[in-house]
Amino acid sequence: MASLFSGLDDAVEEVEYEFYDRVTLIDAGANTSQITCSRWCRDIGLDWPGDLVRGNGSLSFDHLDVTVPCCASVVPLNRLHYDWPIGFARFEVSAMNLTRAQYELDTDELARVADLLGHPVEQILAHY
Ligand SMILES: [Zn+2]
Repeated sequence: MASLFSGLDDAVEEVEYEFYDRVTLIDAGANTSQITCSRWCRDIGLDWPGDLVRGNGSLSFDHLDVTVPCCASVVPLNRLHYDWPIGFARFEVSAMNLTRAQYELDTDELARVADLLGHPVEQILAHY
């Protein structure tokens, strides 16, 4: 797994990876400041996802369909509009505290990670 970030070894404080049994919310922490229903009816607010996760008992879900509080529509969590990218995945690699000036992986680096994993990847930038 270390080879995923070869060339970045000195720039990454810690790398962790995890497989999940179910599709799991990969959040962006404090980077997310607004969530809007897929019908754009109104801001859902940031308390709602926390309540949802507490009610669910974990960040992992059997299915992503939820009833949103704004208009009572049933929509998949991954179709809501988040002002900062988040993800839903069964595998996560976390590179913590990149110390280089460019703190996100560029297109070539993401393509290399995807090649090594044999699966498309998305980058979620989280701040806690
Ligand atoms: Zn709505």
